[in-house]
Amino acid sequence: MIKNLSYFGDPILRTKCKPVEKITDEILKIAQELVDTVTAHNGSGLAAPQIGYDLRMFVVVLSDQVDKSGNPYDEEPKVFINPVITRASKEKNLKSEGCLSIPNFYEEVERPREIDVEALDINGNLFSEKKLHRWRARCIQHEMDHLDGILFIDRFSEPLKHRHNQALQLLEMRFKQARTIQGDPFKQKGLK
Ligand SMILES: [Zn+2]
Repeated sequence: MIKNLSYFGDPILRTKCKPVEKITDEILKIAQELVDTVTAHNGSGLAAPQIGYDLRMFVVVLSDQVDKSGNPYDEEPKVFINPVITRASKEKNLKSEGCLSIPNFYEEVERPREIDVEALDINGNLFSEKKLHRWRARCIQHEMDHLDGILFIDRFSEPLKHRHNQALQLLEMRFKQARTIQGDPFKQKGLK
């Protein structure tokens, strides 16, 4: 089922999410909602709080492989439950990011270049992905942040924060107002 997205200004995006204690039918339903919603929005990844749940789980679509032009492939959406980044390289890089909860806003953010990650799959089995260093590494770090109430705009350099401060305040205010309307505020207000 495709769920409505939570937008910037919604307190759930600032919540530290709780671990999933047991993989119940409810958790499987949420996992499917993550997959359906990220697919519907053609997203690279989506975290549970972005569809209204304060649980430590997300879905990732982007591959760590790239085509000849350097663009990442999409893979089958994979759900990560209680994910942990077990290693992050000291070396960092800058890449442009966006977020379904802050539409039409892209900016470069610095993060560790390479990571290892561990998580449970929807059957409750532990799996790991190692030496991720392209877009999938980037996407997983972005989604991990969502589980701790952190948004990519929080990781802006000082000059970027300064440059976007006013625009972001306006956006947050607009989303807060729109949140009182049921459904997707962008569609309903014709803002998209
Ligand atoms: Zn995001």
